Amino acid sequence: ARAQRSAVPVGPGALADGTPIPLLANLGSAEGVEGAVAAGAEGVGLFRTEFLFLDAKTAPSVAQQYGHYAKLLRGFPGRKVVVRVLDAGADKPLSFLNDAPEENPALGLRGLRALRATEQILRDQLTALARAAGETDADLWVMAPMVSTVEETRYFVALARELGLKTAGVMVEVPSAALLADRVLAEADFASIGTNDLTQYTLAADRLLGSVASFQDPWHPAVLRLVREVGRAGAALGKPVGICGEAAADPLLAVVLVGLGATTLSMSPSALGDVRAELLQHTREQAVAFADAALTAEDGATARAAVRALLPQHV
Ligand code: PEP
Ligand code: MG
Repeated sequence: ARAQRSAVPVGPGALADGTPIPLLANLGSAEGVEGAVAAGAEGVGLFRTEFLFLDAKTAPSVAQQYGHYAKLLRGFPGRKVVVRVLDAGADKPLSFLNDAPEENPALGLRGLRALRATEQILRDQLTALARAAGETDADLWVMAPMVSTVEETRYFVALARELGLKTAGVMVEVPSAALLADRVLAEADFASIGTNDLTQYTLAADRLLGSVASFQDPWHPAVLRLVREVGRAGAALGKPVGICGEAAADPLLAVVLVGLGATTLSMSPSALGDVRAELLQHTREQAVAFADAALTAEDGATARAAVRALLPQHV
């Protein structure tokens, strides 16, 4: 099967039964645009904007940000581009955002919480994004990181609309947001699941700490059950549910995530080819069967083994 993969032409993501599963790119700056297009990305599912802020002494102006966003959007005419607003916190301290020391930075004033405490930075970023969207014909979606409540969702979506953005959603990377996905998605246009943080918070294991790295397994059924909550809510409300954490780059797990209700997958451009090839080998019915097998396992390793056992020529 591996040998056939390199022969799969670059094309839109789809299951064997023709169900489209758009395959999008994760990008950390506008420099990656050409590479993502060459790898067949159908758009951008996660544009991380931290690079604009992390080395700066003061927040970049609307004009400075605008140029970067316009370059990104021009690379994807007519395509969906999901931009995440600044995801900083006490572990990536920004003097102009939050300089109070914290003992548990992952549980502190980070992501949307930090932006909200310094709202002008968020307003400027959304203003620059709206301006870039107005001057290009990409389909810009904006989303907020580290959202843990329905009220935060309402706050972010209202602010994005006030500043002229048409499509606003949230990342689901905290268990509370996944468990209340029906309420969260009632407020937002879409959800995008960040499996890196969702795994960290579900297993209560710092994703940056080597001594607990074995807990950072997105195959863990506890994580997958949370993904299922979001998938179900998205299906019930007719709203898109993307995956933008590293899990989407694992070809077999990508199929499981589709079986749990993911409608798009976003990953580093280098992973697009293998994921595209794997999706083409399975129908939606099979993806759902894989998901069911993984959900009832006791841990990540057995979930993966249970799915592999369902493959036609598993080794
Ligand atoms: C995630 O948490 O899965 C995610 C995509 O965001 P980041 O890795 O930037 O925290
Ligand atoms: Mg995250």
